[in-house]
Amino acid sequence: MLDLLKLRRKHGSQAIPDVVNAELMESHRGFPVIDETKYPGDWQSIVDICPTGAISKEPVSIDLGKCIFCGECEKLSGGAVRFTNIHKTAASDRRHLIVASGSEYDSYRENAVEVKREIHKLFGRSLKLRQVSAGGCNGCEMELNACSNVNFDMGRFGIDFVASPRHADGVVLTGPITKNMAPALMDAYQSIGDPKVVIAVGACAISGGVFAESAQMNRSFLNDVKVDLYVPGCPPHPLTFINGVLEFLGIS
Ligand code: SF4
Ligand code: SF4
Repeated sequence: MLDLLKLRRKHGSQAIPDVVNAELMESHRGFPVIDETKYPGDWQSIVDICPTGAISKEPVSIDLGKCIFCGECEKLSGGAVRFTNIHKTAASDRRHLIVASGSEYDSYRENAVEVKREIHKLFGRSLKLRQVSAGGCNGCEMELNACSNVNFDMGRFGIDFVASPRHADGVVLTGPITKNMAPALMDAYQSIGDPKVVIAVGACAISGGVFAESAQMNRSFLNDVKVDLYVPGCPPHPLTFINGVLEFLGIS
């Protein structure tokens, strides 16, 4: 026992002490900065290279809900599109995920996540989530798993994934929602007692991502259910998810 205690002391805490202000490595692709004046050619060529239709020409903008952060537009645009390593990009409103040319991060963050008093009161100290992979590739699911490991330690904020929707306060959706998974997703959602929250994680869940045009999808769930928080990425970094949820709960 004494040896164990000594070992514990030697290891210290493995958790990132300050997840709110933690910075990611330079190569991480997060919030994009767009300056359309820096690209002298026709923006249509950049629009055409995007595999998910995330770039629009008029006005020039990137939809983070569709973007898979492949970096192709950054390479082609010669600096007109530049991905920063800023990872806090979650938003309550789907329209907020559209980043226009000239948008600055500070103005993007302002009111990005709506903080509701009722949500803070009900879930601010404990939020249990049921994760449903509705046809995901396992990328988003792995990053969500990482949220509970010793480094990110989401449990310290009272946020945990649970095995049964009956024990959950909300559903975390990943994947583009395949026809086969659509009924199971709705079952899980309906098994959660009210009030409940819905969090869409990753380009697939938010917009269908690279599978948006597939005939094998059934995304009608999103017509019936209001999403409370969108977490963009392909997959999103654990800190994008954790910080998004902390802001949503009004505790950061
Ligand atoms: S980084 Fe995003 S916006 Fe740019 S080409 Fe890839 S998917 Fe499209
Ligand atoms: S958003 Fe990307 S990582 Fe997540 S399930 Fe879809 S393809 Fe996989």
